This record gives sequence, structure tokens and C-alpha cells, in this order.
Amino acid sequence: MMVRMPQEITNDSLEKIATEVRGCLLCKLSRSRKNAVPGEGQLPAKIMLIGEAPGKNEDEKGQPFVGAAGKALDLALEKSGIPRQSVFITNIAKCRPPDNRIPEPEEQIACRPYLDRQISLISPQIICILGNTAYSSLLGGKSVMADRGKILKRDGQEYLITIHPAAAIYNRNFRSVLEDDLSLLGQEIEKRQKNSVHSRSLDNLEGYTQQREQQQGPGKEKKRIMKKKRSKK
Ligand code: SF4
Repeated sequence: MMVRMPQEITNDSLEKIATEVRGCLLCKLSRSRKNAVPGEGQLPAKIMLIGEAPGKNEDEKGQPFVGAAGKALDLALEKSGIPRQSVFITNIAKCRPPDNRIPEPEEQIACRPYLDRQISLISPQIICILGNTAYSSLLGGKSVMADRGKILKRDGQEYLITIHPAAAIYNRNFRSVLEDDLSLLGQEIEKRQKNSVHSRSLDNLEGYTQQREQQQGPGKEKKRIMKKKRSKK
């Protein structure tokens, strides 16, 4: 289970994690990688995307999702109205497994504390799980196709499940699946933003009315508003 700690207590930062990842020798993937890929994005980020592991292009550049799968992801994000710069993108394993094999369980476990620290710092509203490896590693899920497009809540954190963008490179149907799921994610974040703006305005209105009532006596402010409304008719 992931333990969240406030940033000021841990004195942790995304830069600190990235530096540690780049020098990490905790598992055998450190021997074959060219560059570790800690992840990319700014604080604050309402959405965090988590994939499986870096591929060839990512290993060469030290950045996540910059190859063909990255292009498929960028396109789906763009169609969903989610700017790539507004999300944080990373992987379960921060180093490329040879021949792009799935990271072994012990490699996933060795790398997990970096991911947990990133999640703790970013505190995203929704984590978007990209593909089966991330799904099984984070939530013990079996099949993204069975659960895709669903928002699940676990230990107070919400997750949206979708396919890995690599599946969408050559398959038009999978491309639509990815776009549909990311659109849902974009709509969900927008809805929450609207609700929070609405509840902030109601709080402001309530505070304003209370302030006026304190100054003018109970009920006077309400009568003033009613009078104003009547005079408009
Ligand atoms: S995959 Fe993770 S644990 Fe393994 S060497 Fe890279 S950063 Fe370290």
C-alpha cells in the first residue's frame, strides 16, 4: 500500500527523485540501460499517466513516451483536450528492459518506491493506468480490456484504466479505445474543476451575505436582494 506524506515533511522533490533514478543500480536493468527515464511533467498535475517501461527511443533520450507509442499518446491527448504539458508521465520501471520485454516482478518491486514518491508529491486527482503491466503492478488487475474506461478508487486514490498507447500504433480500433478513454478522463477533470469553481462561488456568496448581515442585522441583506429583484421586473 502506498503511504502519502506531505512534501514539507519528507523534503522530497521530483528533481531529487529524478537524480536518484538516473544513478540507480537497484536492479539488473541498470546494466543494460543507456539512460534511466524518471518521468516528465510539472507540479501541479491533476493527471498522472503511468505506463510499463521505457522503449528504445525513450532509453536513448531519457524521456518517457517519445517514440511511436508517444506519438499515439500525444494524438489521443490532443483529441481529448488534455495538454501533454499539464500531465505527469512516467512508468512502472524507469529503465528499459532488454528487447522491450515486460519488467520482471522483482524489477517492478525494486523500482516501486520511486513511483510511490512521485505519486505522493504530485497527488494527482486521477492516475491513468496505461496497459496491463501497470494495471497488474498498481492494482493487481488482470485485463485492461475488461476494465478500460472505468474509474476505480483504491486507498483514497482514483484510477482510470486504459490500454497502452503501443497497442494503438497500428490498430485503428485500439486508437479509438485510447481516445475514448482519455476523452472521458478529460471530461471528468473538467467536471470536477467546474464543481469546485461553483462551490467556491457559493462559499463566497455565503460569506458575503453573513458579513452584510453582521453589519445590518439578520434578514436585511435578504430583503435588500428581494427588493432589487422586484425593481428589475
Ligand atoms: S528499473 Fe528502477 S530499480 Fe531498476 S535500475 Fe532502473 S531505476 Fe533502479
